[in-house]
Amino acid sequence: MANNSKPLQCSMCGSVESPSNPVAEILPGLNLCRECVQYIDTQAQVSFKGKGGRKGSAAKGKASAAKKGDLASADLDVIGFEDVPKPQQIYDFLNQYVIGQDEAKKYLSVAVYNHYKRILKAGADKAEDDVDIEKSNIILVGPTGTGKTLLAKSIARLLNVPFTIVDATVLTQAGYVGEDIESLLTRLLQACDFDVEKAQRGIVFIDEIDKIARKGDNPSITRDVSGEGVQQGLLKLLEGSVVLVPPQGGRKHPEQKMIPVDTKNILFICGGAFDGIERKIAARMNTQVVGYGQNSAERRKKRENLMRYVMPQDLKSFGLIPEIIGRLPVLTNLDPLDRDALRRILTEPKNAIMRQYQRLFEIDGVKLTFTDDALDLIVDKAIEYKLGARGLRSIVETIMVNAMFEVPSSDVKEFTVDAAYVADQLVKQNFELSHSKE
Ligand code: ADP
Repeated sequence: MANNSKPLQCSMCGSVESPSNPVAEILPGLNLCRECVQYIDTQAQVSFKGKGGRKGSAAKGKASAAKKGDLASADLDVIGFEDVPKPQQIYDFLNQYVIGQDEAKKYLSVAVYNHYKRILKAGADKAEDDVDIEKSNIILVGPTGTGKTLLAKSIARLLNVPFTIVDATVLTQAGYVGEDIESLLTRLLQACDFDVEKAQRGIVFIDEIDKIARKGDNPSITRDVSGEGVQQGLLKLLEGSVVLVPPQGGRKHPEQKMIPVDTKNILFICGGAFDGIERKIAARMNTQVVGYGQNSAERRKKRENLMRYVMPQDLKSFGLIPEIIGRLPVLTNLDPLDRDALRRILTEPKNAIMRQYQRLFEIDGVKLTFTDDALDLIVDKAIEYKLGARGLRSIVETIMVNAMFEVPSSDVKEFTVDAAYVADQLVKQNFELSHSKE
């Protein structure tokens, strides 16, 4: 409240100052009330959007969101390239969660970085620029359980964007039993409480993309329901267009109000095992997968090595249509996990299995330790029973169930798991009987 007797009046709305809405002299002769100042501030932010210049406080907040990699809440009109995590930073982040798969991590880091650039460009100087940076959708080829989904999930975690995993096998061409292709965006919308803006910057991981491959290299005369038709449907989404999404998913039906979603900035990451693709690679490279005089270990090694040379034309030979391959410009492969990788997966990732169990015990005030030979034996069993990385968890669960049952009601403060304990528990839980080595 001003000192002189005459109360101040807002030059804009005419309100007389009051304790709930004070008025101040902003410039000589210009008095504004708090409500009008707030109104102007909001309006100014809208009006200056996209016009560059100094970043306001709100803009700074959004830019710092981008700096942290938070693409979902970053205002794309005010952040600059300098705010975007660099490929090396993205790679380092992935290293915390994913063991090995160096090449895939590098490809992904670059693709995600370029994706940022593309979005930022679209948000900035559309009119002046005639170079269209195309979307860098990604396809990951590699055996099941080697980290394809984990990589995609970790990327989504870094960017803090809505993320969803869909299985390509449930999708069918419109008119057939199964889910409409657009319904995969329903899950993305659900992942962000139907915030369309956020969903439009999300990541969709399409798993088992190899299962919708056309059977045989030649286009069939009779369309196959789950193959080429679905691929054609997916194209629309991958290339970027506005699609109508059924909010409840599943099949569209006339009474349902559709939500328009623009897929232009949605990053699609596809994954598939592409079993048998090494034959196509070998044929292209003119080498043989099965050589005479080789033992099965050598043959397997050769097959695994061939996967490293996977090229777009091999995906075509496998049965993906060229248009789909064209929309998945980043192609990279994942290596099978060897003994060393499995061993590291047990302990090294940020949320490694062993750390999780240690945390569970810690909550009960118990220090849990695994000896090296215990870890080795767990890995041996995963290899012996061909359980891969996914199996590591179920083996540890089997080993730990009795301890987790007994320890909380005992006065034990330290618990050590050694190889003898592992072997004993596996026998007690009938592990060998309930698993086959095939
Ligand atoms: P897929 O390649 O079939 O998508 P996932 O990414 O779902 O395989 O892997 C299954 C589980 O195995 C993951 O949740 C993770 O616990 C573990 N895993 C697989 N590969 C790796 C890896 N390279 N680094 C760390 N953990 C991994």
